Order: sequence, then structure tokens, then C-alpha cells
Amino acid sequence: MNSQNKEKPVNFIRNIINEDLSSRKHEVIKTRFPPEPNGYLHIGHAKSICLNFGTAKDYNGFCNLRFDDTNPSKEDIEYVNSIKKDVKWLGFNWDGEVKFSSSYFNIFYICAEELISKGLAYVCFLNNDETREYRGTLKNSGTNSPYRNTSIEENLLLFSRMKVGDFKEGECVLRAKIDMSSSFMCMRDPTLYRIRFQTHHQTNDDWCIYPMYDFAHCLSDAIEGITHSLCTLEFQDNRRIYNWILENLDDFNTSNRPHQYEFSRLNLEYATTSKRKLKLLVDNNHVISWNDPRMPTISGLRRRGYTAASIRDFSERIGVSKVNSLTDISILESAIRDDLNNIAPRTMAVINPVKLIIENYPEGKVETLIAPIHPKNDSMGTRDIFFSREIYIDKEDFIEIAPNNKYKRLAINKEVRLRNSYIIKATHFDNDKDGYIKTIFCTYDPDTLGKNPSDGRKAKGVIHFVESSKAISAEFRIYDRLFLDSNPSKLDDLSSSINPNSLEIKNGFVEPNLSSATAERAYQFEREGYFCRDSESEELVFNKTVGLRDTWSQ
Ligand code: ATP
Ligand code: MG
Repeated sequence: MNSQNKEKPVNFIRNIINEDLSSRKHEVIKTRFPPEPNGYLHIGHAKSICLNFGTAKDYNGFCNLRFDDTNPSKEDIEYVNSIKKDVKWLGFNWDGEVKFSSSYFNIFYICAEELISKGLAYVCFLNNDETREYRGTLKNSGTNSPYRNTSIEENLLLFSRMKVGDFKEGECVLRAKIDMSSSFMCMRDPTLYRIRFQTHHQTNDDWCIYPMYDFAHCLSDAIEGITHSLCTLEFQDNRRIYNWILENLDDFNTSNRPHQYEFSRLNLEYATTSKRKLKLLVDNNHVISWNDPRMPTISGLRRRGYTAASIRDFSERIGVSKVNSLTDISILESAIRDDLNNIAPRTMAVINPVKLIIENYPEGKVETLIAPIHPKNDSMGTRDIFFSREIYIDKEDFIEIAPNNKYKRLAINKEVRLRNSYIIKATHFDNDKDGYIKTIFCTYDPDTLGKNPSDGRKAKGVIHFVESSKAISAEFRIYDRLFLDSNPSKLDDLSSSINPNSLEIKNGFVEPNLSSATAERAYQFEREGYFCRDSESEELVFNKTVGLRDTWSQ
């Protein structure tokens, strides 16, 4: 189906938007994707990106890319750059310039002063332990901080002293004065600002007080004129602070102010979608880098051979709801398989090579044969493949004695068709000194190129091959699940679930036309699966994207 003609998905967020447009609450839809630059984006973020950018696009609205950069101790410009690259690669364009919460620090400061002036915020000198104790529990209401009744003038002065660095890190914070007996813990005088003597990647050393997420997020949304602020379910309770802050600030308490809506986050089988945990995998060398092809990061998936279209399609297939669940990895894999089946050029690669000699084929002759690039799409054209007396086939495609009549590969005295080529019959083989098969000897039937034998014989199976003199050596990286547990995030120690065999390296041969393969461009290695050239290797290295069929659920 042409994506242009695809029916737009229905979900509860679109229902809300439809109502807001028909009641004229909003004329234009504006969303944002607000990553914190403290790691690389993962497949969970892709869901949020597709939702935010995709929804805005479908309603002819706008979507901002805004870095939620309020915690300098964990953030880095490397992450800012990788996030921009990943969003673009996924096929989305943000409205105008990239936005940074840090560019609103002055406005946030003025808003904080407004809350203090209204008696709605105060500087609190309780330490961490005391603050926790005063907060109470779900069962018991909290206790007012002894600093809650400091005068407005004094609080304004103390806050300005926080700003100029008169207090140490952790000595005091600015808190909202809301309700210490609220049944929502997050409403028990939440922290709005804390002190951090850290250099920030955007504002350098301009600030030593940094706003908390709950304060910065709603204000950033309001400043940018966001209409629908979409976030994940764990922020459901925090919606109360979001509203409280905007309602208590004169400039932002408007009828068209932003509203927060929560949807369920993506949890993917055999993966973790927590930047913190992904960073641990990198830091503890369980994987090579953030873009290791085993990582569920966008850059890892890209290097593995996933296409942007397949990730967008996946996001659509899983839909948007308010129910948390664990998404079956086969949904992601079928999305990429469906895409690559249509677009990937076909080629042959021998991953576990064994030499095969065709004894009745003339020595020194190399024949050029024509093979289609795609069996169902003639417009993709043809490629030259080669044939001679010596070829490589896969070890797995030969056995001395066929186990039964259904056996479809090569065995002594059995015939098989070489893909895009002739029918051959195995006659005998050599072993090396360790007893492994070294060379298989065959004969070929010269009258079977592109046709069945005239005497009515039929070769049961087809195997792939690469001609030996033209073959190019290549490394193949075959990936398995990174985790043994289908839901590793529920484990205390993620490393206990690492699959020690998540990467297998093989050395074999590919058709000569692959010597110039473009990195990250998918090929179907016939009978083997989808592969793409690795983007980080000088040599010819291919990453296996996914097999041809779903073998996990069998
Ligand atoms: P992490 O725990 O991985 O750091 P986060 O929510 O802190 O996740 P942010 O950078 O703050 O990461 O996320 C940016 C946006 O992406 C947020 O709106 C967040 O709700 C959304 N998001 C993050 N993880 C997921 C997920 N697994 N599924 C859907 N959306 C997600
Ligand atoms: Mg976050």
C-alpha cells in the first residue's frame, strides 16, 4: 500500500486533537520531542518521535525538537549531536531551530521569582534526609518544612543569593509551596531549583542553579506554544504540578495553554529502553559502543541494517495506548523483513565456505551468467555472476548421505541446482587432516542452465554459491539476542542476563559486486537473510540484520 493513501491511525491522542480543533480551542497543533541529552536515542524514543512528529505532520502542524538540558552533570554535546542526527535519519524535520530548555533559563528565573512573590515558593535549607522525612509516606501525610513561612522578601533575597553562588551545592533548594498532605507525593512542596556548580554544554558557567524537570518542562512547552505535550505514563501524577505551575503564572494561565497527555512507554522484549542502563552496557564493555548493532538504539539499529521506514512502520504497528506492556520483538523484526523483502537487492554470500570442484567443467574457463537483482521487480535490473570449475558452497548445504527423501541439499549421488546456474551432482569428497570436509567433487549438467533437464529429471533443491576466482573475502557478524531474559529490565542486575553468544563472527565469500557495497544499505543474501555492510569497518564486514523467516517463535 502506498503510504500516502494509508488510513491515518486512530488513537486517543488523535481523538483529543480532533476535539480541540473542532471546538477551536486550538487552530494549529504544536507538539515537541523533548529528549534529555544524556545518552543516545533508543527504539522507545523512536515511538515518541513518530508520535510527536507524525501527529504534527498529519495535522499540518509543527513539532519542535527541544533538548531538555537542565541537568549538566549527565549531559554532553556528543548526545546533542547524535540525537539530531537520529531524528533526521528517521525522516522528520523539526520546526525552525533546535530548541534548548537552557535558553529559557532567564525566563524560568523570572517565573520562580513570580511564584515567590505570590507566596507560592520558598527557599528550604532542610538536607536530603530531613526533606525525605518531612515528605511523609503514601500512608502518612508530610510535615511542613520549618522554612515554609519565611517572608516573601527574605525568600526573594535568598533565591537571588542562590543564583550568585552564595550557597553550597545541596545547602538549599527552591520549593513550591503546595500541600504537604496531598495524596500525590509529587505535590508535597516539590523542588523547583537546585544548586549545581557544573559547566553546562550550552550556558557554560552562567548559572549555578538549575531548574527541575517539573518546573522547566511545562514552562518550556508554554513558551514555545506547544498545544499537546505528550509524555509517558510515569509522569501521570506530575501532570498536577504541570498544571499548578502554569495556572499560577500570570503570563501562562491562558485558555490555550499546553496540556499534558500520557501514553504508555515502549518496552521491547530482550532489550532495555533505559538510557541509563544502555550507558552501563557501554561503560562496562558488554557492547562495543552506543551504536553496536546489538543495541536497541536508533544508531545501533541503523548500523544493523534497519531502515527508517521500518522503524516508522513498527511504531505504527504497535500503536499508542495507555496500557503498559512488553512488545514482542517479532513485531520489529517483521517490520524490517517486510520492508527489505521489497527493496533489498539479491546477492549470494557463502558464510561457512567449502570448496567444490566441478570435474567435468573445463579448466581455466570462467563463464558470466545473468541473475535478477530482485525476483519480483524486473525494474531493478540484473547482475553478472560467475561460474567456473571451482566454486564455494556453504558447508551446511552438503552431507555425505541424504538422511531421507525430503533432503533438498547436496549429497553424494544427489542432484541439486546451483542458484541462477546449473544442476550439479556430488560424486565424492576429501577430508582434511582433522577429518573435516575439505573439497567436494561434482559433475554438472551443461544442458540445465535456466531450464530443467530434458529427460524429465528434477533437482529437488536449490543452493547458493560463489565462483572462487572472483569471490571476495568478507567477514560476517551474526547477532543473537543481547539478553537471555525476555524482560531484562525487571532484573536488578542487567549483566546477569547478558547472552555470551550474542555475536558470532564468520569468514566467507561474497559476489564481486559487493566489494563496493555502501554501508548500511541492505542486501538479501539469498537463503541466508538480510545483511548490510558495517559502517565502522574499513574492511568488507557485513552485519546480519535479520533472518528470512521468524525462527524465534518456532
Ligand atoms: P530514559 O529512561 O531512557 O532516559 P527518558 O524518558 O528519561 O528515558 P528522555 O530523553 O527524557 O528519556 O525522553 C524523551 C522523550 O521520549 C520523552 O517524552 C519520553 O517520554 C519519551 N520516551 C522515552 N523512553 C520512551 C519509551 N520507552 N517509549 C516511549 N517514549 C519514550
Ligand atoms: Mg528523562
